[in-house]
Amino acid sequence: MNLADITTIKSILSQPQKIVIVPHKNPDGDAMGSCLGLLAFLQRKGQTAHVIVPNDYPKFLKWLPGNDQVLNFERENNEAKALLNEATIIFTLDFNDLSRCGQMGPLLEESKADLIMIDHHQQPSDYALVTYSDVSMSSTCEMVYNFVEYLGEVDSIDKNIATNLYAGIMTDTGSFKYRSTSSRTHRVVADLIDRGADNMEIHSQIFDTNSPSRLHLLGVALSNMVILPEYSTAYITLSQEELDKYDFKKGDTEGFVNYGLTLEGIIFAVIFIENREEGIIKISFRSIGDFSVNQFAREHFNGGGHDNAAGGRSEDSLEETLARFTTVLKTYKTQLNP
Ligand code: 5GP
Ligand code: MN
Repeated sequence: MNLADITTIKSILSQPQKIVIVPHKNPDGDAMGSCLGLLAFLQRKGQTAHVIVPNDYPKFLKWLPGNDQVLNFERENNEAKALLNEATIIFTLDFNDLSRCGQMGPLLEESKADLIMIDHHQQPSDYALVTYSDVSMSSTCEMVYNFVEYLGEVDSIDKNIATNLYAGIMTDTGSFKYRSTSSRTHRVVADLIDRGADNMEIHSQIFDTNSPSRLHLLGVALSNMVILPEYSTAYITLSQEELDKYDFKKGDTEGFVNYGLTLEGIIFAVIFIENREEGIIKISFRSIGDFSVNQFAREHFNGGGHDNAAGGRSEDSLEETLARFTTVLKTYKTQLNP
């Protein structure tokens, strides 16, 4: 954020506002942590603020401080619409284009409120009064910490704010192992621990709360894995039938895609998950090194994200999607296997 942006934000927050905070659809740890961290901060500053999620999110995030205040646009539609209508300021967190928040997108586009974007995804759209976008950041949560620091308010970070921001940084960095994890990231999380984030407890709440059926589903996913050594690629499929058999709940497949990258020599990992209700195949892409899955997802699967972690979708059947994927993959042979 430049000086002009900081001045703008300070002036906005010096007045009482009606604030709504929105993450992307299918919010993850960084999306929920950043929204709830910012919520707690704004409420501490005496602002009226609400978090509205476009749709539901995984159980392993439902313990985050402030979770009980979250409104779900699908479930509490009237209340959510009323809040959006009255809003004077809308923060959009952890996404770069209004199409990323599903059915809420058009409402945000038409809104007369001023929008403020805080996000670390590539190619941000130009819709906000203030765009704080930085693709070098580990997470939106690290950016919310910076945001609070720009306002000169780091000392307002209490245990609840620290817990949310720590949770989002931890999940978006793969527990501090991805390339985007900087020494600054570690300084920020160190400060969050000093301000009350219980690092061991947060890790355990997120990673050690599996259901037996999730682990069984992981077993199915791993046995479905196809390895294509000539493309340094591994992919996993999960059909709706398999999901149903293991009592799939939102969030159960989180992290499955990463197993492909733990294979020696594999630099591109993909998971295809059938969603019959939405009539799509949801795809997650991960890579190690220079192969940009953001570009791959944008060009071929109607998606995007980061260089090493992106998502996309296909409206074809699982079989057709796989056939298309393997055809497309052939055109990347030299990039993937130099
Ligand atoms: P995941 O595979 O965990 O759903 O997402 C990985 C990254 O890609 C996240 O940063 C997420 O926000 C982004 N992403 C996931 N799905 C999509 C999509 O359909 N479109 C775009 N533009 N980004 C996505
Ligand atoms: Mn993120």
